[in-house]
Amino acid sequence: MDQSITFTEKDQLKAKPESVQLGFGKYFTDYMFEMDYSLEKGWHDPRIAPYAPVALDPAAMIFHYGQEVFEGLKAYRAKDGRILLFRPEKNMKRMNQSCARLNIPKIDGKFVIKAIKKLVAIEKDWVPTEPGQSLYIRPFIIGTEPFLGVHPSGSYKLLVICSPVGSYFGRNTKPVKIYVEDEFVRAVKGGVGFAKTSGNYAASLRAQTKAEELGFDQVLWLDGVEHKYIEEVGSMNIFFKVDGEVWTPELDGSILPGITRDSVLELLKKWGVPVKEKKISVKKLFKKAEKQKLEEVFGTGTAAVISPVGFLKWEDRVVKVANGETGKLSKKLYETLTGIQNGTIKDDM
Ligand code: PMP
Repeated sequence: MDQSITFTEKDQLKAKPESVQLGFGKYFTDYMFEMDYSLEKGWHDPRIAPYAPVALDPAAMIFHYGQEVFEGLKAYRAKDGRILLFRPEKNMKRMNQSCARLNIPKIDGKFVIKAIKKLVAIEKDWVPTEPGQSLYIRPFIIGTEPFLGVHPSGSYKLLVICSPVGSYFGRNTKPVKIYVEDEFVRAVKGGVGFAKTSGNYAASLRAQTKAEELGFDQVLWLDGVEHKYIEEVGSMNIFFKVDGEVWTPELDGSILPGITRDSVLELLKKWGVPVKEKKISVKKLFKKAEKQKLEEVFGTGTAAVISPVGFLKWEDRVVKVANGETGKLSKKLYETLTGIQNGTIKDDM
């Protein structure tokens, strides 16, 4: 796409929040990127404009049939002041895979990265400086055609908004408590589980509330057909260290192919740690745990990077992992990945 990105400047910028208040996704920067799609023009009118509400027709298809895809990536402040994006090309590739599944026209990933870089450069003062903090970037596409027939939208809007964030769980690498959800499922093979689309998250909310009501932080999702095999944890991929070997569920269509998951797999292989992507039955995992073979459990995702799990519950069985502490491997992965992200460790992957 060879179009120039226009920029409309604001008269007055917002006051920035105190760094201790950041949390996750509560504050938004001064500007956003926007472009539109129509059947006649394709993607057009790329622009950076003041962050503002979006006016949509009440019949816009996004409101009725949820035709949407999104991404999540972060910009980090390096010690020397540079602002670094972590593997944005992987997010663009995944966004196009999500678009293909949701019948949304493809984007030019290189162009959107250029737009994101321009937006982040304008918003440079919003990139926080404390360790563990970053500027979360949320690109998303919605179907905008006003039409109530169930049909792919004829028009779309792509937006990119940015939010300065602290650590996702507010407790950095403190282990979380999870329980195995055996009633509700997140996704099924053949559905949209591998796509980053809003419906997957809407479908997860009831179980998340249930987990919180029961005193847990997150749910461990099982497969949607047999309810036997482990898929993901909350909105993260999951890893287990069992008897010296690391396991993660294989990607089979119902699991989101996480960019952090990919980076963790690469690091483990580089370090010579034995690692397997495979079907993991919850029964087998609990048996291993009960024989004291489950050494570490952690979730991986852009928001938390590495989120160690300290406690697991399935039916009436409970397991404390690594004595409720952060395991050695989880810590090493967290430090290496965040080091790569903030430029203190060379990214040679
Ligand atoms: N699974 C789900 C359902 C997610 O929403 C996310 C967050 N994007 C992940 C896994 C982790 O993906 P990533 O490492 O790309 O953030």
